[in-house]
Amino acid sequence: MSDRVYIFDTTLRDGEQSPGASMNTAEKLRLATQLEKLGVDVLEAGFPAASEGDFEAVSRIASKLEKTEVAALCRANKHDIDKAWGAVQHAVKPKIHTFIATSDIHLKYKLNMTRDEVVQAAVDAVKYAKTFTESVEFSAEDGSRSDRDFLCKIFGAAIEAGATVVNLPDTVGYAIPSEFAELAKYVIEHTPNMHKAILSIHCHNDLGLATANTLAAIGVGARQAEVTVNGIGERAGNTSLEEVVMALRTRNNYMPMHTGIVTENIYPVSRLVSMITGIIVQPNKAIVGANAFAHEAGIHQDGMLKNPMTYEIMSPESIGLNTSKLVLGKHSGRHALRSRLKELGYDLSDEELNTVFTKFKELADKKKHVVDEDLEVIVTEGVLRTAEIFTLEYLHVSAGTSVMPMASVELSINGRKVRGADWGNGPIDSAYNTIAKLTGTESELLRFTVSALTGGTDAQGEVTVRLRENGLVALGRGSDPDIITASVKAYVNGLNRLEYLKTHPVTDRQTV
Ligand SMILES: [Zn+2]
Repeated sequence: MSDRVYIFDTTLRDGEQSPGASMNTAEKLRLATQLEKLGVDVLEAGFPAASEGDFEAVSRIASKLEKTEVAALCRANKHDIDKAWGAVQHAVKPKIHTFIATSDIHLKYKLNMTRDEVVQAAVDAVKYAKTFTESVEFSAEDGSRSDRDFLCKIFGAAIEAGATVVNLPDTVGYAIPSEFAELAKYVIEHTPNMHKAILSIHCHNDLGLATANTLAAIGVGARQAEVTVNGIGERAGNTSLEEVVMALRTRNNYMPMHTGIVTENIYPVSRLVSMITGIIVQPNKAIVGANAFAHEAGIHQDGMLKNPMTYEIMSPESIGLNTSKLVLGKHSGRHALRSRLKELGYDLSDEELNTVFTKFKELADKKKHVVDEDLEVIVTEGVLRTAEIFTLEYLHVSAGTSVMPMASVELSINGRKVRGADWGNGPIDSAYNTIAKLTGTESELLRFTVSALTGGTDAQGEVTVRLRENGLVALGRGSDPDIITASVKAYVNGLNRLEYLKTHPVTDRQTV
């Protein structure tokens, strides 16, 4: 059996189903490009039948990527498969990923179909997808709760119909590692013609076991892992890409397998995903959390100074942390900025570089050292969010112990400038009230978080908000050396995302 494990990234599809984590097309394209550089084998770009927005994003990603396989998800019916193919047909390597549920509980309460009907639907779907492309994956939704012999039967039928990958998902995050390994082993041993296809696994983290289950299945012969960056995804999320990849790399003595991931790009991609989804990585998150490589206890430090391997099982450099601590300042020129951005993975057009350079100079006037995290913020806010409806043009707040908190704000709404002022319980409340009036929106603020982007008292404040309006939920994120301004930027970003959701209705979300 080959020791190569294929990495199927679904950050843009399953990951985007995280509550509030919508991304616009520019952000998706940016992320897709970075995922290609990271070296994922397959990139699942979306579910084209879900909405026009999904279709367009998948189709643009398919046209842009140069070497990565681009997959589109579809249910096992002609309409969905046509949409999926319509969106990925221009990819260098297009893939159709079709699925149907196989557990008795889903058959009875969701599909209202018999097992034989489900097998027939799977076979028809794979055969139809095969008329478009050689590369077809079939998934048995709720696989971990399905009858094992039925799984082998449907996988065998799908392989005979032409599926090149069959995927065993733990859709509801229910499996236990030893049990899941046993199931994967059974499937490998009892599925007719299993040697003609790759067994893939797709786990969810409801019990915190997604990575463990994925590694357990790889241990018995599964050779594709479906993952997301930072483990984002529906409910408790998906298997995290960085955990699986670094476990295989760090414990290669125990699990002698390898992936095609350029691990030094893990940290920058993790940051990008967090920046554009607004989902902050928890500090104690394995591999990419802020504390993952921080050693504070004195006893550790002593040993660490003598030899880092005393307590460090992997080096920060191996995931792209600390590789180069280049700091830019107010005298840094355009050339230095361009080359640093290039190292961070941003290839900008001249026009985009001009925008970033102006904002960089503004920041360097306020802040002595401009570090990578600051540059990421400038690119995300200055380049990727350009097509937004609401833009903050001007903000003035007054607050303190003896004045009534008040804000005056100028926004541009689709290019048209509007101004207003209002009172509130504090400067942020005043600014939010003013903006709500100017935009005519009625969102409810569900959550508000402030953190610092880096160390130091001149660090940029980073604010995330969670907003709800008419049942739609969106996250917003903003950074600025001034936390009131950061709060307002986050609010405006959240409102833009709500507008995006209003104009890109999702008719049918699907889970695998
Ligand atoms: Zn899933």
